[in-house]
This record gives sequence, C-alpha cells and structure tokens, in this order.
Amino acid sequence: MNNISDELQKIVKEVDKQIAPKLAEIEDQIVYNQAKVLQAFQDNSVAEADLNGATGYGDDDIGRDKLDRVYAQVFDTEDALVRPQFVSGTHTLFTALNGNLKYGDTLTYLTGMPYDTLQKVIGLTDDKRGTLAEKGVKFSYVPLKDNLVDYDEAEKILRRDQPKVVAIQRSRGYSTRKTFTIDQIKEMIAFVKKVSPQSIVFIDNCYGEFSEKHEATEYGADLMAGSLIKNAGGGLAKMGGYIVGKKDLVENARLALTAPGCTDEGATIGNLHDFYEGFFLAPNVTGMAEKGMIFAAALFAKMGMNVTPAWDEKRSDIIETIIFNDPDKMIKFVQEVQKNSPIDSFVTPEAVPMEGYEDKIIMAAGNFVSGSTIEFSADGPVRPPYAVYMQGGLTYAHDKVAVINAVRDTFFNQK
Ligand SMILES: *Cc1c(COP(=O)(O)O)cnc(C)c1O
Repeated sequence: MNNISDELQKIVKEVDKQIAPKLAEIEDQIVYNQAKVLQAFQDNSVAEADLNGATGYGDDDIGRDKLDRVYAQVFDTEDALVRPQFVSGTHTLFTALNGNLKYGDTLTYLTGMPYDTLQKVIGLTDDKRGTLAEKGVKFSYVPLKDNLVDYDEAEKILRRDQPKVVAIQRSRGYSTRKTFTIDQIKEMIAFVKKVSPQSIVFIDNCYGEFSEKHEATEYGADLMAGSLIKNAGGGLAKMGGYIVGKKDLVENARLALTAPGCTDEGATIGNLHDFYEGFFLAPNVTGMAEKGMIFAAALFAKMGMNVTPAWDEKRSDIIETIIFNDPDKMIKFVQEVQKNSPIDSFVTPEAVPMEGYEDKIIMAAGNFVSGSTIEFSADGPVRPPYAVYMQGGLTYAHDKVAVINAVRDTFFNQK
C-alpha cells in the first residue's frame, strides 16, 4: 500500500502472520455454510423464474414462498417469513414478539437489558404508543452477572413470571459484554426448556447469521429473527428482515405483519433477485467481515488499544468493539472510518440524537445500502466508555485498507 510508513508496514506483516491460522478457521466455516446454503437452493429447485417477484397483492409470489422454504431449510426450522415489508431489524423483531404476545403475557430477557431500540418497542422508555407495554404485555429481565447469564437468578425469575416468551440476544449490541456464542446459547436454551418448558425461546439473531457453523434454531430455539441489511442479506438486499421458527409461531408473526385473511399477501416486487443472491453470498460475506475484524483486533491490540473480542477469541458475530475512554478520540476514529468508505467519503459524521436510541449516536456508514452494517461501518452511542462498534465489510481487502489507513491517521499522524 502507498503512504504507509515502513514501521506500519512491518507491523501489518507481523499481524498477517499472527492471524493466518485464525483466518484458515474462518475459511473452513465459510465452506461449511456455503455447502448448507447451496444444498437448500438445490433441494428447493430454485429456478431463474423465482428471482422475479410478483406485484400488487403478491398472491402468487412463488419465488417469495420458495425463498421462505430455503431459509427454513438453512436454519433448520419448520417455517420462515422473509419479507421486504420489514422496515428494519427492530421492526422484524417487534413483529415476531408482537404476534406471539397477548394481553397479560410476560416477555423475559435472559441476557440482560435488550438492545436500545428493543427497549423502546417493549415500552421501557417514556413514549408508550404502539409498544408491547401499551397492549398489556409485561416485561422482566435477568441482569447479567459478570457479563454472563445468572442462572440462579434466572431460575427464580422464570418460576416467578412464567414468561410466554424468553428472549436471548446473541450479539452484544451497544453494550460492552461479549457476544454469546452458539455453545453458550445452546446451554441457555436447554436451561429454559428445563425450568420453563412452556416458554417460547426467541432469539435476536442480528449480526449472528453464518458467523459460526451452527444456528440457535438447530438447538431448540423456537423462533428467531434478524435483519437483511446485516449478514443474511449478503450486502445485496436493499431492505427487509426474516423470521424463522415453529410453524404456528411464524404464522402468528405473519398475521402481525399483514392482517387476518391477508397472510398470503405481500409482493416482493424487485427484491427477490437480491434476496436470493445475497443469501447465497452471505456465508462468504460474513466470513470476510469476520476476517476483517480479526485483522483489526490484532492491529489495534498492537497499538495498545483495548479491543474485544481479541483476534484469537471465538466469534459469534461480525462486530469488533474498540474502547476509547475518550469522546474526542472516539469521534475522530469514526470520522476516519467514514473517510475510508466507498460512498460519501467526503462527509464528516457528527454525534446526533437518533430515533430509538437514548444517547447521541455517531455513525460512519459510507455504504451502498443506507444504514447497512454488513458493509464496513463503525458506530456507537457517545457515552462512557466511549466504545466504537465496528462491523466488517463486504470484502476482506476493503476492511484491511480502511483499518490500516485509520490506524495510520490515528496513531502515526502522517498523511
Ligand atoms: C441491529 C440490531 C437490532 C436492530 O436492528 P435495526 O435494523 O437497527 O433496527 C436489534 N438487535 C441487535 C442485537 C442488533 O444488533
């Protein structure tokens, strides 16, 4: 690369050597997941005609229904609902919860307080309009203990509240806890099935898809949801979300998204081509993002920064957290990320209040798809410990170029 000092070149070479075995593990995972997705395409006889969605009511959107079956096979579930009508990940998660929680039911989060935007839809902030709380759904959560599930406390709370839905958030979101691995989630699911067998186990899988070889639904999770402008859309989906799980639970979500009597409706218009191709690419794109963050973790560690996960730690999403402990440095770094993006590289992001979030958020997102976080991006709420959440991008090469440049400008102060 040009404009990189000999000193930094040398460090990058060391990092390349250091992380090589870890990158090989990711390659192995990509092949495993790619085979799984390819098999689902073949078993469902995906044809060229399926790539063209219907218009209007979408009553005969054959490609849409087939894509649901492809998702269901990959996630090992009875049914799936993959739709462009989901406006965001939050809306997708909300629809899954809203469809399955009635007046008087309790929703319990096993993994501490949920992600910021979920707090809002549950009704934990001032504005209760349209929230689960407004329709009479009760909420409780099990506070984490040393950033892990507190099983003793959880047993008490589950026995006390008899929740209809027990939710598990896989990814860290904007917290400094670690992302839960599939092995940990497997243990959580087994625990809930034992202590509260009547509860629906629901997984917020945002950022998790294809970041390991297995998914929570393979280990008994009943319902799971995520965003298509994160991993599952492979960078090509322009919008949308997915819900997978048991047939009756997915049907309840379908009712909540549409209306009674209209559950066969919902045209995909021009989105199916991107949804199919993006899902086909998703194992590779997710792996590239993980590789990029492994590189970043190792390089930032060499710069003396506090990062999590460490480069050699088990990953279960595409996020790297870098702790700055300083608002100015945090903001400067996010601006550097924006500078190294393909789109809007000339724009300087600033910290602003954002709908759904309690603190000011700063976001670098020079992306092809607005707000997409399966493209190289970095963001975070401007609050202590001033952590930046960086998401790996579409290609390992871009992550590498961008991270090296950002490190150069942050730590070596040369042009
Ligand atoms: C991104 C994310 C969401 C919400 O998705 P949006 O598309 O931003 O609405 C929910 N939960 C977790 C853990 C996430 O990472």
